[in-house]
Amino acid sequence: MTVYLSLGSNIRPRHHLGTALELLDAQDTIRLLGESPWYETRPWGGIVQANFLNLVCAVETSLPPLQLLEATQAIEQRLGRVRTLRNGPRTIDIDILLAGDTRLEMPALTIPHPGLLERDFMLVPLLDLAPDARLPGGERLIDKCAHLSHHQIIRKLTFGRNDNQEN
Ligand code: ADP
Ligand code: MG
Repeated sequence: MTVYLSLGSNIRPRHHLGTALELLDAQDTIRLLGESPWYETRPWGGIVQANFLNLVCAVETSLPPLQLLEATQAIEQRLGRVRTLRNGPRTIDIDILLAGDTRLEMPALTIPHPGLLERDFMLVPLLDLAPDARLPGGERLIDKCAHLSHHQIIRKLTFGRNDNQEN
């Protein structure tokens, strides 16, 4: 199954995003298929904190969604994510946006991610990577862009993961 993940960080973000992508691909059950351009974004939720970097990646996985969530949360733990303030600074946040045709509504896991149709930093990079992506019901995601309510993107970065820049 192809799954789209949203990754975000505002603590040494280049380092943590690059490492998270490597750790995802290093799992036996997860193969990295591609990643979007990286975006600098304004923090969401009213807390004064550093800007974020966000991207979306596509992975192929044999894991069912809840086990995939366990795997992504283990990577968050390993990268030192501490849950203090809601929507506060974080070394890494990995959210599951879409997982094939899966629809799930559980407290621990909602798929498609409830923010996907609201937050530009989820939808825009997903469409960069997969312009033809659809919701489980078949609706085209590209038709949802006009309805975004959270416009956090500041700019698309021009450098890639392997450039050697600070952070
Ligand atoms: P947020 O992503 O909202 O900033 P967290 O990363 O701390 O906050 O996630 C809070 C909880 O959201 C997680 O413990 C997880 O169980 C739940 N959750 C529900 N749906 C999803 C999803 N699609 N992807 C990732 N986490 C999810
Ligand atoms: Mg999260």
